[in-house]
Amino acid sequence: MKQRVAILGAGPSGLAQLRAFETARRQGYETPELVCYEKQSDLGGLWNYTWRTGQDENGEPVHGSMYRYLWSNAPKECLEFADYSFEEHFGRAIPSYPPRAVLRDYIMGRVDNFNLRQYIRFNTAVRWVSYDETDETFTVTVMDHNDDEMYSEVFDYVVVATGHFSTPNTPYFEGFNTFPGRVLHAHEFRDACEFTGKRVLMIGSSYSAEDIGSQCYKYGATSVTFSSRSGPMGFDWPESMREVPLLQRMDGNTAHFADGTSEDVDAVVLCTGYLHHFPFLSSSLRLRTHNRMYVPSLYKGIFFEGNRKVIYLGMQDQYFTFNYFDVQAWYARDVMLGRITLPDEGTMVDDQKKWLVGEEALETEEDEIDFQAAYIRELMQETDYPEFGVEQQAELFKQWEMAKQEDIMGYRNRNYPSTVTGVVGTPLPDHWLELRDDSLETFMTNTLLASEAAAGGAQ
Ligand code: FAD
Ligand code: NAP
Ligand code: MG
Repeated sequence: MKQRVAILGAGPSGLAQLRAFETARRQGYETPELVCYEKQSDLGGLWNYTWRTGQDENGEPVHGSMYRYLWSNAPKECLEFADYSFEEHFGRAIPSYPPRAVLRDYIMGRVDNFNLRQYIRFNTAVRWVSYDETDETFTVTVMDHNDDEMYSEVFDYVVVATGHFSTPNTPYFEGFNTFPGRVLHAHEFRDACEFTGKRVLMIGSSYSAEDIGSQCYKYGATSVTFSSRSGPMGFDWPESMREVPLLQRMDGNTAHFADGTSEDVDAVVLCTGYLHHFPFLSSSLRLRTHNRMYVPSLYKGIFFEGNRKVIYLGMQDQYFTFNYFDVQAWYARDVMLGRITLPDEGTMVDDQKKWLVGEEALETEEDEIDFQAAYIRELMQETDYPEFGVEQQAELFKQWEMAKQEDIMGYRNRNYPSTVTGVVGTPLPDHWLELRDDSLETFMTNTLLASEAAAGGAQ
């Protein structure tokens, strides 16, 4: 009987798995029957922006954590698909830092190109996955909101591609219950204009804090204060932004910090990260981890120790994104197709340990970037995923880190060469702080004008 594979989630990771199989099918390989369950009404995962927070139209937890005005926080040259370049999609060169809608358009282009929607069941939330030891199959139970029906189907493999930046980690600080302003998590943040003229306190010192704080500054917050438990980010912030130690308690509007200082604020944004959350998986199938560079109990960062036919995609912390999901999906596909054979259990556990020891030795962000590049390279060597210059992209990531240190509000005005096509990003029409309309149409029109002006100026 034909093998059946369930893919949970149609974000970039789930789509990578579909694309991997479809590529093999078009090459003439016999591929399994694929069913992708997606609880949202469209594909794209986090890139499928929604204004909703809390519960969605079906009463499901809202998946989206992205906000209006979000721009890529790393050069697009670091996330380019090896088999579908930005130039191929847009028909010309564009700047290195596109806004959310432009990146989404790029992701969608590859999907449409390959007719992947045929495999996806939308508005269908996975409720439970169980494993039957006797016939070695999985039963996946889903809620189909289109028909208001629950049903179950049987599969040989389950690919978990449900992401891990959607269930907020929400620590409590004394005084939150009586704080007169709004306390929200980054997951619920949508429009920075809500904080125009407000004094905003961010808790956390990672990407969400940095970027939501910068958004608030860009759209006119009076002040932005970052409070962190493990030290400041250390960027050269504009005057109305500053970094302080961890919040101890709120007393009315007043925030008290660990160094004894205090400050009055109007709103608090918890940029305290996310939980890996799989409420549809029993304990024996469920990955338990925090957000880290190598996740324990996954061979090659993919195959679950409790049951190697449970495949997880995209579960590590992410420097590399789209092409890293692709490389994992290509590897997972080849295992499912029998083109790669998993070694014996002892060898797999030893390999996991080797990577975890490597992870523990990481000290700097540069180390982390090289570590993730080495991981991707190791997977790539065993599949036919096209070459895209992983190590060159790692070097671009390092330049990106340096550019942020030099100019945290201006780094998005830099441009980098594609490791796929060699083409360098074109200039943004203005300083990033001045670019407030980030729609696809405006971006495409104004960046074309800017490149024409730059070309004219160069003649
Ligand atoms: P997701 O994109 O989270 O997709 C998971 C999918 O699974 C969703 O469609 C969801 O609806 C579905 N799903 C979840 N649970 C169920 C269920 N029970 N049943 C059915 N379906 C389910 N990366 C970049 O490269 N560049 C950026 O600029 C960037 N910005 C980011 C900004 C924010 C605020 C965040 C949080 C992340 C950002 N990322 C960025 C990283 C992001 O994680 C990846 O780009 C990418 O979206 C991850 O893809 P994924 O498929 O693994 O997960
Ligand atoms: P994260 O990188 O996991 O960071 C979590 C942060 O929360 C850390 O600073 C951590 O501090 C802090 N924290 C956790 N618990 C805490 C507690 N109890 N008290 C105080 N601080 C606490 O999560 P993230 O910043 O939300 O980023 C998630 C992903 O979103 C990343 O992949 C990022 O690239 C992406 N993102 C992208 C953009 C963009 O592209 N524009 C914007 C935002 C986010 P410690 O360091 O002390 O642990
Ligand atoms: Mg996915």
